[in-house]
Amino acid sequence: GRRPAPGGPATPTHCPYCALQCGMGLAPAEGEPGGLAVVERPEFPVNRGALCGKGRTAPALLARGVRLTGPLVRSPVSGELEPADWRTALDRVARGLTGVGESYGADACAVFGGGGLTNEKAYALGKFARVVLGTSQIDYNGRFCMSSAAAAHQKAFGLDRGLPFPLEDVSRTGCVILVGSNLAETMPPALRHLTELREAGGTLIVVDPRRTRTAEAADLHLAPRPGTDLALALGLLHLVVAQGLTDDEFVAERTVGWPAARAAAMAHWPELVERITGVPVPQLREAVRLFTAPRDAMVLTARGPEQQSKGTDTVGAWINLCLATGRAGRPLSGYGCLTGQGNGQGGREHGQKADQLPGYRRLTDPAAREHVARVWGVPPQSLPGPGRSAYELLDALGGELRALLLMGSNPVVSAPRAAHVEERLRSLDFLAVADVVLSETARLADVVLPVTQWAEESGTTTSLEGRVLLRRQAVEPPDGVRSDLYVLHELAARLGVEKGFPTDPEEVFEELRRASAGGPADYSGITYRRLAEEQGVFWPCPDVGADGDAGADGSGRPEQSERPEQGEPAVGAAHTRHPGTPRLFLDRFAHPDGRARFAAVSHRPAAEETDAEYPVVLTTGRVVAQYQSGAQTRRVAELNAAAPGPFVELHPRLAERIGAVEGEPLVVVSRRGRAVAPARITGAVRPDTVFMPFHWPGGGRANSLTNPALDPTSRMPEFKTCAVRVERAAQA
Ligand code: SF4
Repeated sequence: GRRPAPGGPATPTHCPYCALQCGMGLAPAEGEPGGLAVVERPEFPVNRGALCGKGRTAPALLARGVRLTGPLVRSPVSGELEPADWRTALDRVARGLTGVGESYGADACAVFGGGGLTNEKAYALGKFARVVLGTSQIDYNGRFCMSSAAAAHQKAFGLDRGLPFPLEDVSRTGCVILVGSNLAETMPPALRHLTELREAGGTLIVVDPRRTRTAEAADLHLAPRPGTDLALALGLLHLVVAQGLTDDEFVAERTVGWPAARAAAMAHWPELVERITGVPVPQLREAVRLFTAPRDAMVLTARGPEQQSKGTDTVGAWINLCLATGRAGRPLSGYGCLTGQGNGQGGREHGQKADQLPGYRRLTDPAAREHVARVWGVPPQSLPGPGRSAYELLDALGGELRALLLMGSNPVVSAPRAAHVEERLRSLDFLAVADVVLSETARLADVVLPVTQWAEESGTTTSLEGRVLLRRQAVEPPDGVRSDLYVLHELAARLGVEKGFPTDPEEVFEELRRASAGGPADYSGITYRRLAEEQGVFWPCPDVGADGDAGADGSGRPEQSERPEQGEPAVGAAHTRHPGTPRLFLDRFAHPDGRARFAAVSHRPAAEETDAEYPVVLTTGRVVAQYQSGAQTRRVAELNAAAPGPFVELHPRLAERIGAVEGEPLVVVSRRGRAVAPARITGAVRPDTVFMPFHWPGGGRANSLTNPALDPTSRMPEFKTCAVRVERAAQA
């Protein structure tokens, strides 16, 4: 077995949770939850040994009683989920999918993946949908995470990688504008890079409607009304132009589209922007001064600007600010997105997204279809076209979509307008869920398949930096548990596809390398062996052959690489040695002409504005002790004790107006539903806004309220702003 001997060396691996993918070691430890103790890996440069409470307690996820240990099949007699053997469960899934496919056509079967799945699983799931089921209907919960930033990145630079530079660069730039990110609670170890930035004389500006712990650490905190940071970015750009602070040489040589973007910004006078956002003009001026004073500066966005029905344009406006001031495409400057989910980056690169094929190729690109079809051994014309985006897919369940195979996602808690999504899931002819725990969504399934997680298996993830990492197996899974790759292998065989779905993750990765070769996210030069030797490898990393000639990648792309600062390859290794690409866009952007694109964007209101009936803005977010839908973290005693339930954060003035009392229940009502949670009265939130964390199901489910209005480009729902009314529970 691969279980390490007690007292043996720690297995180096990475955290099961967020996109920071902190390095950690797992050492055998009798009596500890999961039989493992977390040990520090100070050599990993992103977190240098530091972990948040979630990472520190992660072995608890391995404990029996927390995780599923055998398949469950819904009994036609009792209507309940009951234990079953694997053969019975898989046969039932195969019958459910084929039955619907035969009755309604291949596109009636849908697949929904997750940004927590490893690259291998995301790749195999996308291939399974298109090759075995022949359906176009596949998307994943990453659509709810960073898709607006991905779309804006793609538009502006021709390539989307969350951070086009290592996170460590943040501590060496001159100024960072952090937009809609509460790093202190979502990724605490990353805060160290911002602390070092300030210790070195740099400055931090935080844009957030709430005075978060991150905002408290900033030199300047701008608190716009939720949904107005597009106008805020335009107002800053207006001042940059008015004060003659543009980098005209950079704009002329390396960009396209400045006149239209400039005109749009000039229409947003600071006084107008103050009226729209609530941010006073002197604060706008101070932000411009701090951002433009140093030679180097960055803008980093997270879910705040991205989870809006104008998320792509909002991120585009922040990118404009970087481009107009020449703060992009050179070391220690630029725009980056802080992706949220553990494999949010890799999960969007390898084919579980509705419009993409592995290697970040477009599904509509004939050359991409031909390349991937060749790797898969199928005719290109057999590959379906693009399908529905995540919310649209969930909304169509029980209508055109009759069966769903869902892996690693919990939309009953995490989707917008969640009560409606729950009702759609209940109306399916057949639902199969593969997960580690019995999530709220798994509870609705006809079949639940318990799958391996994190320390029970090996696999790769790609962090928010575009750094491909190897998570290593440290323990054997419980007897009744199988891997997602095994599930897909067995289902494919039952559906008539005997080959092409290996159960060994490294074998899947070898195929992924070939499928990604020559694509934007080229992994062909990355091997498990390299990942075991180095501190991850940044894509693109083309296969340059065993002699390691890094200039001859054969991809036709200009060389953008430099040697990583750590993890120098072993001399004489008998495998490929392109160094990977820690920093993108240094010489040219990825559009064919090498130039970045400005976005000509203007302010527009949120899809739902406040009115007399719903006079308060709701915004949602996270707390440090919980992760996403809470399916994992709510099962970890220490985390649950730290954050046992939802709450409604509201300003003292609003509290006084409605008679709210600290700790007593409030009812929050939107056009889509209601949620009840205790009041938390604080001056940290704007008087016109309430905040709820979204980690819990049931009566306090924040996503019962949120608005599924979609961004036209990214198809991102507007989680970050909707209109509500807030009342004391006794009155409602
Ligand atoms: Fe894990 Fe993210 Fe916490 Fe790091 S910051 S320990 S990756 S949850």
